[in-house]
Amino acid sequence: MTDTTASLTPKPWISGIAPYVPGKSAGADGRPLIKLSANENPLGTGEKARAAFRAAQADADALSRYPDPGSAALRETIAAKFGLDPARVICGNGSDELLHLAAGTYAGAGDEILYVRYGFAVYEIAARRVGATPVEADDRDYATDVDALLAAVTGKTRVVYLANPNNPTGTLATRVDVARLYAGLPKDVLFVIDQAYAEYLAPEQDDGGLELAKTQPNVFVTRTFSKIHGLAAERIGWGYASAEVISALHRIRLPFNVTRAGQAAAVAALGDEDFVTRSREHNAKWRSWLTGELESLGNHGVRVVPSACNFLLVLFEGDVGAETVYNRLMDAGYIVRWLPGQGLPHALRMTIGTEDETRGLAAAIRVALAG
Ligand SMILES: *Cc1c(COP(=O)(O)O)cnc(C)c1O
Repeated sequence: MTDTTASLTPKPWISGIAPYVPGKSAGADGRPLIKLSANENPLGTGEKARAAFRAAQADADALSRYPDPGSAALRETIAAKFGLDPARVICGNGSDELLHLAAGTYAGAGDEILYVRYGFAVYEIAARRVGATPVEADDRDYATDVDALLAAVTGKTRVVYLANPNNPTGTLATRVDVARLYAGLPKDVLFVIDQAYAEYLAPEQDDGGLELAKTQPNVFVTRTFSKIHGLAAERIGWGYASAEVISALHRIRLPFNVTRAGQAAAVAALGDEDFVTRSREHNAKWRSWLTGELESLGNHGVRVVPSACNFLLVLFEGDVGAETVYNRLMDAGYIVRWLPGQGLPHALRMTIGTEDETRGLAAAIRVALAG
């Protein structure tokens, strides 16, 4: 018999998810704003990637064909560039997909997924989505506290996520920290090192994640083309792990997860060292400049968390709080990220923009604090 009174109900662990809030690009009235809310590259996309993308898109006859399901050319290019085994490179629909695959492959109901407080927002969603319990370890002044993470490991821990450097805090765990964290984890835990901002680091800041992924059975490093490579629109990420981990992740990967034009653009982007270098240098220069400007506002209770990324997390602990500054910046034409949902109602995350945007933002913050 049909129960006509029954109602369709999402699984309780799905109902428990607070949806991801993307960085906005317009005000409440629809007015376009200078977008410093999503950590996109202010220099845009390199000429080589743009040309490859245009060429791939021009071939409309290929629209009816599926893209290469194995992203073979892209995996080969990644492997050659970083000295990896192409069979152990996995490409994703953004690194977001890969982060979800890690949770879906190794955790489920009754298991725990661990990360630091103020970790990347996707981790909690990825954990809840598979019915696992998200566990947050304490931070140390907004940075990763290895001891707190290790103390939070239990027999139920299946995945540990570490964004390094971290979003939204911008903090970097050192190579020594990362090695110590890995050494303290049980071998039946997958250690995911999310290196979305790795290309912004100086060589001596390398956290050693890829070396661990090359040699250890339970380390998964993820990278993205969305940030320094300026290809956020095409949704391309990649990851590296042992053959066993990669073959397990492939079982649940969507088969055609990276577009044809995206694969072509990403291959070309890896060949454009000049664009990556220019982007990194631009970021270092203006991140340092903006940090200095904001540190001079300490008398207003402004504090900058030291950043290794293409954004700053700025704390507003004086009379004029983060929400007020956020709204006043919007009135002045700038949208940054206010993160009350991530336990940071007293902070704003702001992407390093072009020179004009960065100078304009600093001036607008001064006005916002004075008003
Ligand atoms: C931006 C970002 C990602 C990348 O997302 P994509 O899906 O590749 O666009 C992953 N992790 C962190 C910490 C990020 O900030």
